[in-house]
Amino acid sequence: MTTQAVKQPHTFKAEIKQLLDILVHSLYTEREIFLRELISNASDALSRMRLVMLTEQDVLDPEAELAIRISADPDKRLLTIEDTGVGMTLEELDENLGTIAHSGARAFLEATQKGEKEPQNLAEIIGQFGVGFYSVFMVADKVVVTSRSYRPEAQAARWISEGGETYVLEPAEKEARGTRLEIHLKEDAAEFAQEYRLRDIIRRHSDFVAYPIYLGEGEEPVNTRKALWRESPGAVSEEQYADFYKQFTLDFEPPLLHLHLRADAPVQLYALLYIPAKAERGMFSLRKEDGLKLYARKVLIREYTKDLLPEYLRFVQGVVDSEDLPLNVSREMVQSSRVVERIRKVLEGKVLGALKEMAAKEPEKYARFWEEFGRFIKEGVATLQDEAARKKLYPLLRFRSTRFPDRWVSLDEYVGRMKGGQKAIYYLLGEDAASVLNSPHLDPFRAQGYEVLTLTDAIDSFLAVMLKEYEGFPFQNAASADVTLPKEDAEEKEDTAPEEEALTPLLERFRAVLGERVAEVRFSRRLSASVARLSDPEGAPDAEMQRVYRYLGKDYEVPKKVLELNPHHAMLRRLAALPEDDPLAEAAIEQIYENALLLEGLHPNPASMTERIQQLMEAALGVEDERA
Ligand code: ADP
Ligand code: MG
Repeated sequence: MTTQAVKQPHTFKAEIKQLLDILVHSLYTEREIFLRELISNASDALSRMRLVMLTEQDVLDPEAELAIRISADPDKRLLTIEDTGVGMTLEELDENLGTIAHSGARAFLEATQKGEKEPQNLAEIIGQFGVGFYSVFMVADKVVVTSRSYRPEAQAARWISEGGETYVLEPAEKEARGTRLEIHLKEDAAEFAQEYRLRDIIRRHSDFVAYPIYLGEGEEPVNTRKALWRESPGAVSEEQYADFYKQFTLDFEPPLLHLHLRADAPVQLYALLYIPAKAERGMFSLRKEDGLKLYARKVLIREYTKDLLPEYLRFVQGVVDSEDLPLNVSREMVQSSRVVERIRKVLEGKVLGALKEMAAKEPEKYARFWEEFGRFIKEGVATLQDEAARKKLYPLLRFRSTRFPDRWVSLDEYVGRMKGGQKAIYYLLGEDAASVLNSPHLDPFRAQGYEVLTLTDAIDSFLAVMLKEYEGFPFQNAASADVTLPKEDAEEKEDTAPEEEALTPLLERFRAVLGERVAEVRFSRRLSASVARLSDPEGAPDAEMQRVYRYLGKDYEVPKKVLELNPHHAMLRRLAALPEDDPLAEAAIEQIYENALLLEGLHPNPASMTERIQQLMEAALGVEDERA
């Protein structure tokens, strides 16, 4: 390029004009990210310089510290960023700042051209892509870049632009190696000439940049530079892990678990992951969303990256850093990249491994984990389509059971103490612990000493649909008509025919009173302590499917149930002995039915029972007799 040509203003390529036009007029509220972009460019230039010095003898300023210096003059609204990196010649300035090399910027432009031009979308797009050097025009109305290449024979040069159609290139005077950006801030961007504001932004976005960043006259770097996750795990103290977590989240409670990982295959990565103490993010938490903080070679790529872990592990917090990701990785690339796929596999395996270890070695801690995050693991089981992946979660599941209503029981534990001859893992779904534990469905299980898992979470019906078998034992719903306990197979219970016969008129009475509300009324041989229970007529959907329907759609109608009566129960004998016209009989029949509904979690309006209960109490207490 001749000096003649240099003096002429150069015109930006069409796509840059377009980009600048968007940025200059952008009202993006998180404009502060321009600083991250410029610091990351300086950091790149410094890294390249470090490499050059390893291979080339003859460089300018070999003694200069590899560092970034930022200074601000609020009166002039001037921000200056200077580095001692590789620098640029006049040709390089033209090439690098006059054409659109940055793939993030290109992806950004493509996204804006897809008709997503609404301002709020735009803000999102800027945040996602990071538009590189040009983002400076969100805050600047003029930028002067003065640079001197590390090559000893190169001349310093200057690039000037006001964010319009053109830029100017000219030779310049600069003694030291590297690049200096003079940023003339827009009136509404004066805040970026305030040191306290700059310090804050640097700490937030560039704290782990590898080179010291000095601010103003300061001699101490503003950034800690310590990428804790890149340290060797043996060299980091518990306190440092806890401190980092606190800085990272502002959580008051220390985390339940930290996991420091390094891998070289199948993908290079460093990761520092945490499981918080509580599922609920505190009001003051710095983490506004789920997702891990993703660095590529120490440069922050995305604050909240959701693709690095399967959805059900979204409660995990932390940082992932990989040498295998390109720095300019865009959002789409993060989602689709094979590297990310591999990272996700590694991280999922490690997190599950750590949880298994916690469950084995620190059961009390695991119980705390389960109480906070158990529903996420259940969600994994309920939603993972891949059976192998789903089964990996089974050992992590915990349940209450009829035997241990106040302790967490694992499937291994359950299977370990199954009775001889037991062929299935029994469970019972219900609304809450009290109604499940009082369920008449449990009668035969209690009578024969079989443990039943009690499932009372909203998500448990979804879980039950997915749970098929564990260690070769199928899961069976204790309320299902198909369940036969081994003992029932072997020896038939005593003959109940005489009792049943005596109660046949009562059975008719039940049928008359309940009418269309039940599919049928019949005797059952399975009940012992309970007077009655509701079961499904043949051909009805499974109990768990019924619940799933109920959660999914409000107007799902529960199929009519069969009311089963216990012919041995003294209450029925007394009831049968009441005179035909005793109003108590009808009230008792209604109440027996509604109690069964209640225990099943099917009662539409429990409060409506109070009047009848009052009537029954008055009868029991002989209130009528007193009045007489
Ligand atoms: P990217 O950093 O993704 O390449 P940018 O738009 O941020 O895209 O920067 C464009 C190019 O300008 C960089 O690739 C680099 O060659 C050059 N550049 C920017 N800042 C500096 C700097 N401080 N020192 C040396 N070169 C720089
Ligand atoms: Mg850049």
